[in-house]
Amino acid sequence: MTTNKKSSLASAMWKMKCPNCRKGDLFETKNPWILSKLDSMPPRCPVCNQSYFPEVGFYYGAMYISYMVSIAVEVPIFLLMLLFFGFQMVPMVITLCVSLIFFFPYIYRYSRVLWIYVTIPFESYKKL
Ligand SMILES: [Zn+2]
Repeated sequence: MTTNKKSSLASAMWKMKCPNCRKGDLFETKNPWILSKLDSMPPRCPVCNQSYFPEVGFYYGAMYISYMVSIAVEVPIFLLMLLFFGFQMVPMVITLCVSLIFFFPYIYRYSRVLWIYVTIPFESYKKL
């Protein structure tokens, strides 16, 4: 069933949809674990023709978002380990590294999603 209703902002971000129309997919594959296609994005939204690359190096800014998202993922894991197992350096470092590797494709993609959702609402980018 298809509807013309625009999905909510949070739902569109979760589903990695276009920030302008919230219908077109931001990434070519839905599965982030296909690492060869991890950063494959169409140049424009197939629904509303919004550019996903409004300027050269547009996604460099997503690196800062990636750092914040990584911290947001790792701090709760650190605190849970601290709460249940106390401070044990080696198991904690191993767990945090493994969890970071596990969450990397999601962190990478959602960093791009957050970055484009922060920047596209500006009128100058909407025209591109
Ligand atoms: Zn669109």
